[in-house]
Amino acid sequence: MQIIRGFRDILPENIGLWQRVEKEAEKLFEKFGFQEIRLPILEKTEVFARSIGEATDIVEKEMYTFPDRKGAKLTLRPEATASMVRAYVQHKMYATDPIRKFYTIGPMFRRERPQKGRYRQFYQIDAEIFGVSSAYVDADLIFLLNELFKQLGLTGLKAHINSLGCPACRPGFQKALLDLLESKKEELCHDCIRRKETNPMRTLDCKVHGCRKALKDAPTSLDYLCKECRDHFNTVKRVLKEQDVEYTEDKTLVRGLDYYTRTAFEIQTSSLGAQSAVAGGGRYDLLVKEMGGPDIPAIGFAIGFDRLVQVMENLEKTIGTTRLDLFIIALGDEAMERGHLWSTRLNLKGIRTEMDFRGKSLKSLMKRADKLGADHVLIAGKKEIKENSLILRNMNTREQISIGSDDLVADIIKLLKKE
Ligand code: AMP
Repeated sequence: MQIIRGFRDILPENIGLWQRVEKEAEKLFEKFGFQEIRLPILEKTEVFARSIGEATDIVEKEMYTFPDRKGAKLTLRPEATASMVRAYVQHKMYATDPIRKFYTIGPMFRRERPQKGRYRQFYQIDAEIFGVSSAYVDADLIFLLNELFKQLGLTGLKAHINSLGCPACRPGFQKALLDLLESKKEELCHDCIRRKETNPMRTLDCKVHGCRKALKDAPTSLDYLCKECRDHFNTVKRVLKEQDVEYTEDKTLVRGLDYYTRTAFEIQTSSLGAQSAVAGGGRYDLLVKEMGGPDIPAIGFAIGFDRLVQVMENLEKTIGTTRLDLFIIALGDEAMERGHLWSTRLNLKGIRTEMDFRGKSLKSLMKRADKLGADHVLIAGKKEIKENSLILRNMNTREQISIGSDDLVADIIKLLKKE
């Protein structure tokens, strides 16, 4: 028997990074006053259809929906925000204090075409803030994401931000976009012709070459922001700068869900090929009301847990395959003691050095040097130490020279840097 296509087992040998991410995320969320909430995986279909939008790819094509035995339409959750809002409204959480911060971690389901970085069951780390309309919390959430990635040792990630406007300014933008789409309709792909009717904004992030070309100078929401939205967006950018969060203003970032207003953002990486978004989110000031609650603003993000782990694995592989300049084979206590000092100093000077402390034989340590891909091996046995004449072997040419131990660190730097 085989697992369902697009689903994955996460095996014990791969669980380490998942646990590490979970711990770091939970620690950071607690520091910033988020509370954990656990939500069901199955909801009534309308919870998602109404919030995410009937005309989105997720609702139109990707949801796992089925009738239960009595005929009610149920859906495996494709994302967490809709359920969060459902719970916030259902339990009238706003009644005691509308300002609430939640996080949740768990599986989501979308019937997309599986490929690397895209699965039919995948995991998200999700955080939402209810009850604050201030741009400061938009910046806070992006800062939090940035901080989490920093703490996990990730580099090369970039925040892309955009503002999608509000009901006051979006109609102007949508009209201008529709006019353009109408005039370019011969050049658009099949999907975009359909999007023109159902969800025009999504044409802006179509990847088809013809559409990209036709819509190169398309109007964007940023061109049409009302004063309030513009001030809001400027504050987000100013606060991000103050907090040293690097970002790119990205006019084409529209996101795949209908409920967003004002700030939308994504954290992107270049290390995952086509699936470049590691996290995404935005403000959804109208959704609580649309789902039957009072008029309460909110904002949130979801991290693609699978992709985050993949970026980390790639990074570890790169680190793992870093060329090793020198492997020190130290035989006996004195050699071990001195070898250890040399290796620390050489690493500090930029000569990647490793040694082994298990007291293994020369033969097995030579094998280890090979396995690590060391360019050079320094052999310090009892005899070599006594005679002050160590052996430096070039593993590629197999040439060996003898080298004294008095100025060993400086001599090795000279020798290895020259090659
Ligand atoms: P979204 O809910 O579409 O905004 O997605 C938020 C994040 O979840 C994305 O940035 C991805 O990292 C991740 N994600 C979305 N769909 C998938 C999928 N099918 N497989 C793996 N990760 C996904």
